[in-house]
Formats: sequence, structure tokens, C-alpha cells
Amino acid sequence: MQLKGNWNYPTAIRFGAGRASELPAMCAELGIKHPLLVTDSGLAKLPLIGRLLDYLQSAGLSAAVFSDLRPNPVGRDVDAGVAAYKEGGHDGVIAVGGGSALDVGKAIALMVGQDRPLWDFEDVGDNWTRVNVAGVAPTIAVPTTAGTGSEVGRASLIIDENGHRKVIIFHPAMLPKLVLADPELTCGLPRHLTAATGIDAFVHNLEAFCSPFYHPIAQGVALEGMRLVHDWLEAACDNGNNVEARSHMLTASIMGATAFQKGLGGVHALAHPIGAHFDTHHGLANAILLPYVLVKNRPAIAERITAAARYIGLADASFNGFLSWILQLRAKLGIAHTLTEIGISISQAEMIGIAAKQDPSDGGNPLPLSADDYAAIFRAACEGKLHG
Ligand SMILES: [Zn+2]
Repeated sequence: MQLKGNWNYPTAIRFGAGRASELPAMCAELGIKHPLLVTDSGLAKLPLIGRLLDYLQSAGLSAAVFSDLRPNPVGRDVDAGVAAYKEGGHDGVIAVGGGSALDVGKAIALMVGQDRPLWDFEDVGDNWTRVNVAGVAPTIAVPTTAGTGSEVGRASLIIDENGHRKVIIFHPAMLPKLVLADPELTCGLPRHLTAATGIDAFVHNLEAFCSPFYHPIAQGVALEGMRLVHDWLEAACDNGNNVEARSHMLTASIMGATAFQKGLGGVHALAHPIGAHFDTHHGLANAILLPYVLVKNRPAIAERITAAARYIGLADASFNGFLSWILQLRAKLGIAHTLTEIGISISQAEMIGIAAKQDPSDGGNPLPLSADDYAAIFRAACEGKLHG
């Protein structure tokens, strides 16, 4: 094995319940006086955003809100945000929300200082070197879900609406300068979204843990991230106001996204094109796909999964024990067992298989999978056939 890797853990995170009131001080730290608060339209209507605006206003900061973005954001959403930023004469971005709002906020902060179109910064080859770094606006990320971990990531997933493709826009300077991780802000998340985003966090840790690349730091982070989800996701779903459970889940989400620089895998390779074509919730797609991909990968991951099962404390610390725990957890959380149940048609299997093979997450899968393999997993996940 070649002991070589690029390791990045640079985010400054202010973690803890009640720390939302520190938002104005964080703006001051970054020299932001007139922020654009980027969030989604659902959140914009909730008292949470009003509270953050009140904190800013009391400190003499005038902020405007941009919330015109889709749950699976497209290029136009970023363009509209860039226009709002420029028209309002803003000097920084506060991105508040789940993955969509955080991704759009980070992309707006990138694009306010560039002359090229967004797609020129797709994470391919050395495209990222085209970025005018001096033009990137400072960003504070404020997660309100515990799942994507976009607050500690250096990329945004934006759909190219012409090609129906989820495109990774990447630059190291897209990493938010500061993260405000206040678990109380996640307490309002409804049960079904707590469940879906929580499983997304779990899958980030799991796929990172199973990816073949050399990154022992990520390996340790991923293992503990899985344990936190095992211990706390049900509690967070059963009582949304359990701040201790919310705290551990927010941490697990941050851990998943720091770990997955080691790589993701087949679950995400399939979930990305499924999201781009069917507008499926990302966490939900992952939650449904997970057992089918695990079974396919079994020959390559059985030993690692057994180690993980031991660490998180399963009574049956075997591959089968791990698999049945996941199936039970999914059922308890009310997550569907098949893609068909959420309205996805098996007739698209071939197209999804080809797109999954082209997805960057494919490179981290522990087994080499072909487009046909992906199509077969997709069909199995539509039909609910877990064992061939
Ligand atoms: Zn994910």
C-alpha cells in the first residue's frame, strides 16, 4: 500500500447549544458589516431566521435575506443570489439551512468575485485553479440539519439544469471561514427529515470508512461518527427537542463530512443521479439504497464492517448483524424499503447506472462497479430484493 494522501481539517467551528447569539461577533471577526443571509424559502418563514436577524440588527448589522432556491439547487438559483448580493452591496454571506442553502450560499460567495460561468469551476482536473481567490466573499455557515455537513466542506453540489447532472463546484476557499454549530437550531426539524438527514450523516461516515484510500485520521473520525448515530439518531427522532441527542447528531454530521474527503462510494454514486433526475431528497435516497449497496460490496468490506459493528457495540458484531441493525433502524424511523415506494420508476435503471458510473463518488467504492452493476443495484432497490 502506498502511504500517501492529502489531508485537510482546517474549519473553525463554534459548537454548542445557545451559541447562535454569537453570530454578530463572528461577523465582526470577519469584518462583515452588511451580510446577505442565504436560506431556503421554507426556513425563511420560520421564527429561527427572524431570531438571527434580530441578533444582527441589535448589533447594528443590516442584513438582507435571499431565499429563492430549490431543494435540489440549480445554476439559476446561484445566479439569482449573486445578483442579489451585488445589488445589495453586501460584504459577506451567512448561509443558514440544510445542504441546499449551505451549498447555494457557498457558491454565491465564490461567484460574486468571478468573471467565468459557474460550470467552469466543476471539480474536474485543475479547474479550481481558475478561481480568482481574492474575489471570494467570506462565509459563515449555520447548519439547521444534521446530515450533509456542507458547513465543513469545500464544495457545493449544484444541478446543471440543461444536462440534468449534479455538478460538484470546488475550491478550497469555498470552505466557510467560520461555522456556527448550535444544536438548538436543529430542534425544529420534523421527524422524517431528522431521520433522512441522520442516515445521510451515517452513510458519509460509513462510505468514508469503507473507501480504499489511505487516510487513518478520517478512518478514526468515521468510526466514532457511526457510533454517535447508532447511539443518538432514534432519540433525536423520538423527541426533536432532546438537545443532547441533537448535539451528538450535529457532531456526527460534521464528522461524516470531514471524514468523506477520504472518499464516498456506491450509495452516493447512485443517490446523486437519482436526485438530479427524480428530485428525490438526498438523505432519503441514501437511506433506501444503503442496504442494497452494502450487500453488493460485502466481499470487499466484511472485515471492516465487523470491526465497525464491534466498535459501535452491536450484540451481533458480524456483517449480518450490522445489516439487520440498519434494516431495523430504517423501519423504526419509517423509511421506505424500496425506491418504488417513493415514486421512482425501475424503467430508468440503465440510464441511472450509466450516470452512477460517471459520478465522482464511484471512485471511492470499495469494489469496482460497472454501469451494469449500478443498474442492477438500482433494480434491486426498486424491487426490494436484498439478496439477489
Ligand atoms: Zn450525502
